[in-house]
Amino acid sequence: MTPNHTVLIAGGGASGALVATHLLKRSPGTRVIVVEPALSVGRGMAYSTTCPEHLLNVAAGRMSAFEDDPRHFSRWLAARGYTEFTERSFVPRMIYGAYLEWIINEAREDAEFGRFTHLRVRAAGFHERGGRVALELADGRSIEGDRLVLAMGNAAPAPWGGLTPEAAQSGRYFASAWTPGATAPSDPDERVLLIGTGLTAVDAVLALRYNRHRGPIVMVSRRGLLPKVHRLFDCATLPCEPAASVAELLRHMRASAAEANVLHGNWRVAIDGVREQTNDLWESLPLGEQRRFLRHLRAYWDVHRHRMAPEIGAKVKALQDSGALKVRAGRVGQIVRRGEGLSVEATLRGGGASTRIEVGRVINCTGAEGRLSQLPNPLIQSMLRAGAMVEHPLRTGVLVTSDGALISRDGSRSARMYAMGPLRIGTLIESVAMPEIRRQACEVAESVGAPSRSRLGSTRHHREGAVLASTVRR
Ligand SMILES: Cc1cc2nc3c(=O)[nH]c(=O)nc-3n(C[C@H](O)[C@H](O)[C@H](O)COP(=O)(O)OP(=O)(O)OC[C@H]3O[C@@H](n4cnc5c(N)ncnc54)[C@H](O)[C@@H]3O)c2cc1C
Repeated sequence: MTPNHTVLIAGGGASGALVATHLLKRSPGTRVIVVEPALSVGRGMAYSTTCPEHLLNVAAGRMSAFEDDPRHFSRWLAARGYTEFTERSFVPRMIYGAYLEWIINEAREDAEFGRFTHLRVRAAGFHERGGRVALELADGRSIEGDRLVLAMGNAAPAPWGGLTPEAAQSGRYFASAWTPGATAPSDPDERVLLIGTGLTAVDAVLALRYNRHRGPIVMVSRRGLLPKVHRLFDCATLPCEPAASVAELLRHMRASAAEANVLHGNWRVAIDGVREQTNDLWESLPLGEQRRFLRHLRAYWDVHRHRMAPEIGAKVKALQDSGALKVRAGRVGQIVRRGEGLSVEATLRGGGASTRIEVGRVINCTGAEGRLSQLPNPLIQSMLRAGAMVEHPLRTGVLVTSDGALISRDGSRSARMYAMGPLRIGTLIESVAMPEIRRQACEVAESVGAPSRSRLGSTRHHREGAVLASTVRR
């Protein structure tokens, strides 16, 4: 079949790769163009790491790229001779990246010649003309398609407010843990300060040690909370009643955790037991309560929900026990250049007045910036200006319908443009991990594929568009 329907995908990480895979396999009348500056499609930010110490934070048995084939990843591992891993193993992320790359490469090899194109460039601008969507590319070219999928994933952390220009230019401040060279200091003994204590900061610690750094590491975040550690168990479903307020939800979850402790000796059952239900619970909360959750509870939720693999937990504990790693609660303030290093103002909890920490480098591990208006992504800024995209009222992510269609400034549902993965945070609370990404990829592919296979135009979506129009105006 000659493809006469073109889908543009901006971003070629796990999200973009899986939408492309479904389209190539199931929508023969569709041509797919992935716009992704990286050399290959599939790995994205999370799975491009070359550090073997960086493990998945979910066991292999739950990491299939296909919801309807839960053992797909396990079979792929076995077929490639990775016999050391079982369904319960936490596999290096670089191997998972190879898996995603293999999936998209297999799909493109099986598809007719010319149905898949990877343009190694950044999308820099957007416009709609004549019922079609056009992307302007950073190299000056422009491409057109019938549908657009935004799969631009995780943004870098927000710029650090207290950074002086001299410190910024010192080569000793790193705006994210993924900035080249951030975790490979030339002086192995230098003291390193990590702003943030979440999984990204843990990644930075592991990469530093892998790169033979042996100096002291200090992690600082407002609450000083490290992610909890996984304990392997077979997850039981533990349904949680929908709640009208965060306080009520917290009461339910606490009761559930207490029950899980009694029945299973493990509070994790309560968190994982509501995994499938989490987005429904989120959507049942009024906007004001969602805002309250983000402000007061999210940090606590995150450390219980996004946990470290047991072997990583053991390494972090050993570093803490030896005194090489210190995890502190407090506020980091101004960062100035001092001599060969940086001097960081910090007000540490329990430490009284503000103090200065002298370090060789600072790595910003505060997590992805969610506020669209602050992102240096030219495609997002262009779409915001055009009114084709609006920020979610929670000021994180894009406002979308429940099936991911963009809601424009005038409140209407786009028939042509969809967002995936981390961009949907706000509308959803779970939209970053693989279970959501693989499901969304399948659904979005169905929506944007050649019209004969598409579900577009269903009355359900139109009704939902009208309801969401009121959300935009809020
Ligand atoms: C460190 C880390 C570890 C994780 N570990 C796990 C795990 O163990 N288990 C799990 O289930 N989930 C995990 N996740 C979550 C999840 O799997 C990832 O967030 C997921 O890979 C997101 O994929 P994505 O394609 O949406 O985004 P990304 O991986 O961020 O990819 C987005 C892509 O878009 C491109 N892009 C951005 N802007 C443009 C533009 N203007 N034009 C063209 N291209 C653009 C970027 O180059 C990038 O390649 C992890 C996430 C991180 C960050």
